Amino acid sequence: MPKTALEVSLISIPDNLLDVIYTACRTCYSPDGAVDIYEKITDDTDKKLNLIKRVISSGHYSTIEHIQVTFAINNISRAATHQLVRHRHMSFSQKSQRYVKEKGEFDFIIPAAIEANKDLCEKFLKHMNMTADLYQEFIENGIKSEDARAILPNAAASSMVVSLNLRELIHLANLRLCTRAQLEIRLVVKRMCALVEEKEPWLKEHLVPKCERLGYCDEDKSCGRMKTKNG
Ligand SMILES: Cc1cc2nc3c(=O)[nH]c(=O)nc-3n(C[C@H](O)[C@H](O)[C@H](O)COP(=O)(O)OP(=O)(O)OC[C@H]3O[C@@H](n4cnc5c(N)ncnc54)[C@H](O)[C@@H]3O)c2cc1C
Repeated sequence: MPKTALEVSLISIPDNLLDVIYTACRTCYSPDGAVDIYEKITDDTDKKLNLIKRVISSGHYSTIEHIQVTFAINNISRAATHQLVRHRHMSFSQKSQRYVKEKGEFDFIIPAAIEANKDLCEKFLKHMNMTADLYQEFIENGIKSEDARAILPNAAASSMVVSLNLRELIHLANLRLCTRAQLEIRLVVKRMCALVEEKEPWLKEHLVPKCERLGYCDEDKSCGRMKTKNG
């Protein structure tokens, strides 16, 4: 079955995020101990943000590694999850194609560019139906799902829980919000960032494509948003 609605949910983010980062920042520069710093924290959000912003803009990203966020993601293609799992500072739990047998019509994601072309989309759907029939035939003939899955496409829909710290989220955004990244993963990461920004708007300026951080485009060809380093 085609699955069109990507679902991304932020299922965990610390309530005391600012306090944790503030404590990490102050601990580096204060004669006081980390415990005292944390225990004496007030509700002065501006004061905390002031220090945090200064520390991050000086490149001390280790202070935001203490904050772990977790997302649940539905209706994402295996093509996109394969790109996500290349990020080595993230933790994943993904729906297994060994333990979960696809029943008859398996779920899949239609890439937007294919969906926009009626003729090609019909061929795509035909191919998915043929694959589903063959997968079912394998299962009915005793082939284990761990082997039958060999014929499932990159378009097969998946589901995962993803955890990462704020430093890695910024890195992920820098790479995957770039227009050089594939559309689906760009949309996934955009949703992840938007959910975090809803809770912590001050992070918005960091959750950007890398060109905005660098001030230029470091790709061979720029999409036009920023000039390349050599103009
Ligand atoms: C537009 C685009 C196109 C791509 N095309 C391809 C492709 O054609 N083929 C392909 O194979 N991949 C491709 N990739 C994936 C890419 O090569 C990276 O594997 C992926 O983006 C993860 O990036 P990363 O290693 O910086 O991030 P992470 O794994 O998230 O690591 C974050 C940072 O930690 C540091 N780090 C992590 N592990 C190590 C380590 N072992 N040693 C030293 N430093 C480390 C690095 O500074 C790294 O940048 C592409 C990615 C993008 C965004």
